[in-house]
Amino acid sequence: MVHHYSMYINGQFVDSQSGRTTSSTCPADGKTIATFPMADATDVDLAVKAAERAFRHNYWSQSHSAQDRAEILHNIAKGIRNDIERLAKIEVMDSGKTMTDVSTVDMHWAADCFEYYAGLTTQIYGEVLPVPGDVLDFTLREPLGVCAAIVAWNYPIMFAAWKIAPALATGNTIIFKPALLTSLSALELAGIIHRSGAPDGVVNIVTGSGSEIGEALCHHPGISKIAFTGSTETGRKVMRMAASTVKKVSLELGGKSPHIIFDDIEKLDNAVGAALLGIFFNAGQTCIAGSRLYVQERIYEDFKSELLRRTRLIPVGNGMDDDVRMGSIISEDQMNLILQYIESGKREGAKLLAGGRRLTQGELSRGFYIAPTIFECEHDDYTIVREEIFGPVLCLMKFSSEDEVIQRANHSPYGLAAGVWTSNIKRGLRLAKQLNAGQVWINQYLMISNFAPHGGFKQSGYGKDLSKYAIDQFTQLKNVYVELCDEESYITTFE
Ligand code: NDP
Repeated sequence: MVHHYSMYINGQFVDSQSGRTTSSTCPADGKTIATFPMADATDVDLAVKAAERAFRHNYWSQSHSAQDRAEILHNIAKGIRNDIERLAKIEVMDSGKTMTDVSTVDMHWAADCFEYYAGLTTQIYGEVLPVPGDVLDFTLREPLGVCAAIVAWNYPIMFAAWKIAPALATGNTIIFKPALLTSLSALELAGIIHRSGAPDGVVNIVTGSGSEIGEALCHHPGISKIAFTGSTETGRKVMRMAASTVKKVSLELGGKSPHIIFDDIEKLDNAVGAALLGIFFNAGQTCIAGSRLYVQERIYEDFKSELLRRTRLIPVGNGMDDDVRMGSIISEDQMNLILQYIESGKREGAKLLAGGRRLTQGELSRGFYIAPTIFECEHDDYTIVREEIFGPVLCLMKFSSEDEVIQRANHSPYGLAAGVWTSNIKRGLRLAKQLNAGQVWINQYLMISNFAPHGGFKQSGYGKDLSKYAIDQFTQLKNVYVELCDEESYITTFE
């Protein structure tokens, strides 16, 4: 019997008003895992009304002190930690990710994120400003009101934490829309939030398609802010829709990140490992994937042969299997899109060094698997070098000088992340300053922390997730000017 989930609106577990449902299918083997509601604009309206009531009438940012909110966030973190194995299994079945990654990274990180923001609730305040005169001028940092979050499918539980935790820490209420393809962990989180002590309506979780409820959220006049994670194309639409009611928007969008290996690295092995992790972690379905790999010419051939040797050893398969390091692609559509990019690489003359095909042997035929793929690219003009593929496809390129690689790395409409491997610290820091990206790693790749801001430059978006900087995204500053002089000495300059 397939489990049916309900949505979470106003502290109640409810089905959509229309009664419509959809099902979640495991991309690793095609089995149906669960059913859940397909909401529409009517359900969104109910969720917004509940969130408005919770914000305005109960004014939860005032009725619940910073310490109360911290306790709720801690309770949510505990709820995740107490149930990691079960939650991880559901996430793996829903997304095709690997059990190793979800149980050791995603779940812990999500719990850590709630704890991190629990620690920040008491650190959100304004400041006194040195306005001249007999004056006290200060700022208040206030919540925005009802926020909505719309996210992609590649890190479902983590994105829920990244958006819900700072929204609650700052005293907002929120409507969270997970991706249709991976809604189950958010619906599980609803149960944890329900038991956390959060008042009714403070968190609402609605499920359905972006074109229907995503758009309804972007247009709804009751919503003050959209926190969006997804493609650049949808991000543009979100901006346009949000403009009609001048909603605040933060956008975490696509990327095509350069990963640069200089010939002075101390250990080739470490840089090869980082290059593999950078592109093949989560089957390349990572916004910060290091999909453009630039290797300096003197070590190029050695690097390439080690990269290829280790690529061929990557175990691909059902993420439930402990030995598997790369799981399935999220959906048939996404798999076909990746295969089209692979064909375009071949057609345009890039040299296929590894993979380049769907894997269908044995049990794999029931899922959507692509072999870890590497193209050697003579130049940066191939479509596969320019466009985000969002799959396990690496473009390997040779470079000669520092100036050349900086120019090539920056030649992209995206600016999400970049990695540099060098033993020359001055060179590393020079690149950190010159690379046009929101995140630069030196002698590392892919590390993100709750303590540090995450977010892109250029068409990779704006606004930051995570860290104390996300607090700015969920608050607004009010200025209070207090005249301190006695009334008799008060001077107006008007009449
Ligand atoms: P999409 O932009 O297709 O979808 C993202 C979310 O937006 C989903 O919840 C989707 O709903 C919703 N959506 C789709 N259409 C609309 C619309 N017209 N109005 C409002 N909401 C809409 O991205 P993907 O899910 O395919 O995710 C992959 C992309 O996300 C990649 O470009 C990747 O780089 C980027 N990304 C960026 C990250 C970052 O931090 N910078 C992190 C992770 C991913 P539904 O799918 O349910 O229909």
